[in-house]
Amino acid sequence: MDSHDLLTIEVEDAHSAARQGHIKLSRGTVATPFFMPIGTYGAVKTLAPWEVRELGAQMILSNTYHLYLRPGMDLMAQFGGVHKFMGWDGPLLTDSGGFQIFSLASLRKLDDDGVTFRSHLNGSLHRFTPEKAIDMQRVLGSDFVMALDECPPGDSSAAVWQAALERTTNWARRCLERFDATEPRYGHPQSLFCIVQGGTDPKLRRQSAEELLALGSGVSGYAIGGLAVGEPKEALFATLELMNALLPGDKPRYLMGVGTPADLVRAVALGMDMFDCVLPTRNARNGQLFTPTGTLNIRNARYRTDLEPVQAGCDCPLCLRFSRAYLRHLIMIREVLGLRLATAHNLRFYLRLMADMRAAIQAGQFRDWSQDFLRQYEGEQA
Ligand SMILES: [Zn+2]
Repeated sequence: MDSHDLLTIEVEDAHSAARQGHIKLSRGTVATPFFMPIGTYGAVKTLAPWEVRELGAQMILSNTYHLYLRPGMDLMAQFGGVHKFMGWDGPLLTDSGGFQIFSLASLRKLDDDGVTFRSHLNGSLHRFTPEKAIDMQRVLGSDFVMALDECPPGDSSAAVWQAALERTTNWARRCLERFDATEPRYGHPQSLFCIVQGGTDPKLRRQSAEELLALGSGVSGYAIGGLAVGEPKEALFATLELMNALLPGDKPRYLMGVGTPADLVRAVALGMDMFDCVLPTRNARNGQLFTPTGTLNIRNARYRTDLEPVQAGCDCPLCLRFSRAYLRHLIMIREVLGLRLATAHNLRFYLRLMADMRAAIQAGQFRDWSQDFLRQYEGEQA
């Protein structure tokens, strides 16, 4: 399959780099820009796959590292992949495991060939190489496969970032050699993404992007990694501006692990197409609810007798039926229903935000829409 056929851009915004289009996959067509709920262990925490679908999710994300440790790739192979295992028949992206190794596992040995690490669960010893990352994602059968990358800590020196990006390029080349896009898995084609690294140093980011572009057309899309690790917001957006200038317009751009609703609006304006983030699901379980005027902490005592919905006009299962007072009660006693309803609201908020952005771009009104959204969300300073 010619990877250039993956993304079709329908509308480009006249006042920013925002673009609206679709990605055609064998498990369904995904409208861009879009947000992927995270199903780390083969489940979006607290929700069934049909609920995730009803909330508006088009594609979800799962984690190679976690599924490799539990329940293991042998079971994934028996099931014929992660889709059948978890009952999600739509498009699905798996990460390579790189980020989890570098953030969760105790690192034993990193070398040019791969990385040996100890499981964060029981200390058992494992080794990932670029080839193994591809082989595992072949077993998982994900629609989008990520190349293995090295993710140094956010406060690393330029020398560490440079070594990491060069290793990431070499690993991406090896992933591409291992990956065979012409051979469908479980009857569905897979597409390979490579990950741009380089921290917030424009010179290193450019080097990383140019080296990955030189790998050629076998790469279906580009992810931007190593951000949202504590860098200032200006550095994040400056990096995205550079990525928008360097990355080809006809392939999807995936901004990994970002971010707040305001971050997503600004990143879409800088030409980003795909997003994932733990914020909506994790914050929900902590009682933090997203609304158009900012986040609301439902644990606050002022909501104990508040009969209003979390967000007036929201079409989620929480806001349609229940009050802030009831959700606060459920969250305070850690009732599972409270976690489910809060998660549903936050995911619906994110997924509706993406749908609103797509509609605004299509209507040629993205600039006005995003100014209004940011003014309301961030208050007077926006
Ligand atoms: Zn709601």
